[in-house]
Amino acid sequence: MLEIKNLHVKLEEEDKAILKGVDLKVEAGSVHAIMGPNGSGKSTLSYVLSGRDGYEVTAGDATLDDEDLLEMDPEERAAAGLFLAFQYPVEIPGVGNMTFLRTALNAQRKARGEEEIGAGEFLKLVREKAKTLHIDAEMLKRPVNVGFSGGEKKRNEILQMAVLEPRMCVLDETDSGLDVDAMKLVAEGVNALRDKGRAFLVITHYQRLLDHITPDVVHIMVDGRIVKSGGPELALEVEKNGYADILAEMA
Ligand code: ADP
Ligand code: MG
Ligand code: MG
Repeated sequence: MLEIKNLHVKLEEEDKAILKGVDLKVEAGSVHAIMGPNGSGKSTLSYVLSGRDGYEVTAGDATLDDEDLLEMDPEERAAAGLFLAFQYPVEIPGVGNMTFLRTALNAQRKARGEEEIGAGEFLKLVREKAKTLHIDAEMLKRPVNVGFSGGEKKRNEILQMAVLEPRMCVLDETDSGLDVDAMKLVAEGVNALRDKGRAFLVITHYQRLLDHITPDVVHIMVDGRIVKSGGPELALEVEKNGYADILAEMA
């Protein structure tokens, strides 16, 4: 589904290479995790996949179902079925959650040449999704993420995912900030949305998240490259020994 080949990325502003040849293949129905020391380029990979400004692809490519992702603008990527969740979701004062979700869904439908969803039908859809995910419908009435607790933001992100039904979900949950409860929410959301037609790429600094989401494949990124891949046991190895052993092996 997602295929990244020899991806090299540098900062647009300076001559600093960050990704130095990333190769990754994520099959439909699977959950892949990327772990790695701080500063290894994990977030940069998710930014580049999302089409964020400030990065320049100097070599390689990334495709979603054989379509060139890097050629698309961010809206087209979403319409193609890519969803990116970041650690710090934006707050949008004055825009109700429902309006936001419906606008996002309709933008996606429009880009696919599909008919827009009406207000009534949408309300039904969101209520249904919220119910399955045990999300309080009250949250739908509030402005997007404004004053939301960390846990509520996570719930909202999962709800967005459930409503937009992306095929490829990339979650960057790196660094600090995710407490145990928020981590469980993310894991529950991912597990609830696991499906044979959908794949997940979960980026995390910590093994803890993977206690709750059992990945099919774990990749270790060091200095802009994936240096090791394996099964869930690789995450446990990192938990036990840190990255020291892997770095020593490389050296
Ligand atoms: P990770 O998510 O693995 O911690 P990042 O992708 O955030 O790593 O960062 C990789 C490297 O690129 C780090 O050395 C970071 O300082 C640098 N970097 C990323 N984005 C920028 C930026 N916009 N400006 C300057 N340095 C950046
Ligand atoms: Mg970091
Ligand atoms: Mg990061």
